[in-house]
Amino acid sequence: MSGLADVEGRVAVVTGGASGIGRGIAEALVAAGARVVIADVEPGPLEAAAAEIGALAVRTDVRLGDDVQALAERVLAEYGRVDIVVNNAGVGHLAPFDQLGLEDFRWVLDVNLWGVIHGVKTFLPLIEKTSDAGWIVNTASMAGLFNAPGMAAYAASKAAVVALTETVAQELAQARSRVGISVLVPGLVRTAIADSERNRPGGRRTAPPQLDQIPPGRTLEPAAVGRLVVDGLTRGDLYLVTHPEMLPVVHDRHARIEAAFGSAGSEKE
Ligand code: NAD
Repeated sequence: MSGLADVEGRVAVVTGGASGIGRGIAEALVAAGARVVIADVEPGPLEAAAAEIGALAVRTDVRLGDDVQALAERVLAEYGRVDIVVNNAGVGHLAPFDQLGLEDFRWVLDVNLWGVIHGVKTFLPLIEKTSDAGWIVNTASMAGLFNAPGMAAYAASKAAVVALTETVAQELAQARSRVGISVLVPGLVRTAIADSERNRPGGRRTAPPQLDQIPPGRTLEPAAVGRLVVDGLTRGDLYLVTHPEMLPVVHDRHARIEAAFGSAGSEKE
């Protein structure tokens, strides 16, 4: 599908927009001339970021469908339309599987996967109704394309976001929708994700997780990711990749899957 030709004048919503990648995307959208709403669960940084970048702040917990619905109503009340939605809010919690409790899985999946489900479910029909053309970006992670020890909850949530986005992209193309969709798959970006526990419902449970289990790579600044996202949705790319040097890791996984297909059925009569 061809991309969103013009960002100028469009109304954009960015969840998790108070910090890190979301803030970088919000800034890039403002720079491209969009009117931007940032939605976040952390009130202080949300208000501060909105004032600094010239966005509207709407406190939202993406785990809650009603909160995302209220966000949409606020956006429509303010601007009468919505064109671009970036479902970006997310948390990281890395630990070996035997140290991940059910409540860890629930929190990570509630924010990272259900936040995206709520965002797409709520906003896709509204973009189709109020915009002549629109775009959705879902933030997954390189961890949605490969995995490593310590990433069971996080990688499960991000692989699901990749799968959801790929599926919806095919459905939108089939329906010849005016709305397109992309999945952002960042490698390491300099953000506050290692301290995701600051936003954990009920307060911190553990010390900030160790990020040294993630394969090393270049650490990007959020502003660079923001520019890459705006360029990518303008081109209409399904996959928005920040770290091309990580291709060998993804390729290794694909090669192992392909090898399994190669040997499958070898014992058939
Ligand atoms: P960050 O902690 O700097 O920003 C995340 C934002 O999400 C924060 O402002 C936080 O308040 C908000 N948030 C958390 N829970 C929320 C909730 N329930 N409802 C609404 N907002 C909530 O981290 P970041 O790295 O910028 O993370 C943004 C996205 O990028 C996440 O989805 C993350 O998984 C993804 N990502 C990050 C990296 C990286 O290296 N930083 C790599 C790949 C993917």
